[in-house]
Amino acid sequence: MGWREVRFNQYRLFGEEVKETRPHLGIMFKCCKVYARIYLNKKGDAFVGWCPKCAAKVEVKVSPTGSTKRFFTAE
Ligand SMILES: [Zn+2]
Repeated sequence: MGWREVRFNQYRLFGEEVKETRPHLGIMFKCCKVYARIYLNKKGDAFVGWCPKCAAKVEVKVSPTGSTKRFFTAE
């Protein structure tokens, strides 16, 4: 009992939430007609990923305004 236990629980919940909600975009790779997720890079300025079939790279810059579409296509 006590505030230490409460804080610990909040920390755990927070950590799990971050893990589950890692920023990503859904991408349709037109080259192979496959759907995959790409994830935010370490800098946090672009979503980067590769086609799971032919390894074509796709990069989606994060808009400075913060308004990113939730779906993109790779040519
Ligand atoms: Zn491909």
